[in-house]
Amino acid sequence: IIFPMHPRTIQLHDCEFSSYIFEEEIIARINMLAEQIDRDYAHKKPLFLAVLNGSFMFASDLLKRVNIPCEVSFIRLSSYQDMKSTGNVREVLGLTEDIHSRHVVVLEDIVDTGHTVHGLLEQLKSKSPASVEVATLLLKPDCLQHPLDVKYVARSIPNDFVVGYGLDYNGLGRNLRDIYKIVS
Ligand code: 5GP
Ligand code: MG
Ligand code: MG
Repeated sequence: IIFPMHPRTIQLHDCEFSSYIFEEEIIARINMLAEQIDRDYAHKKPLFLAVLNGSFMFASDLLKRVNIPCEVSFIRLSSYQDMKSTGNVREVLGLTEDIHSRHVVVLEDIVDTGHTVHGLLEQLKSKSPASVEVATLLLKPDCLQHPLDVKYVARSIPNDFVVGYGLDYNGLGRNLRDIYKIVS
């Protein structure tokens, strides 16, 4: 998919970032994911669990385009800082729904090493859902360290640190409508 580019660079804290994936492309890709989910989950009344904070914009734009009956809720994972994955399994906070026998779809901002999603899936699967799948805005396939089956991926990217559209760099950049990558 090719869209007109209006390249831009921004400064967040000590780092420079340049525009990378524009809103128009993000939305076009999310439209395709929503159509796929509508087909796959017709009559299943899925429960979407959006992982805060990073997935808030993705969850909003995706769920507006999902046309089947569904429930939406939000979870958090205990905190995480800076540009590197720690590899620790993080605790799930705020899951108040009973997911037993439910079709759960986790909404994530980005899957990098896969540690976070792997740990999250283990915790969710222990509660006997009917099924669990992951929908992620971004996937870094070269970084994956787990044999994860991420069913819904809006966009795969190389191993670059990105911000915007929900993703932050130490607190900044979440509100940006486009995705930017670090200038190295
Ligand atoms: P994983 O556990 O898959 O290695 O990392 C997942 C988490 O790392 C994401 O939820 C996100 O918080 C953070 N992360 C990984 N790559 C990036 C990136 O390129 N940009 C930002 N802002 N966060 C990232
Ligand atoms: Mg995340
Ligand atoms: Mg972060």
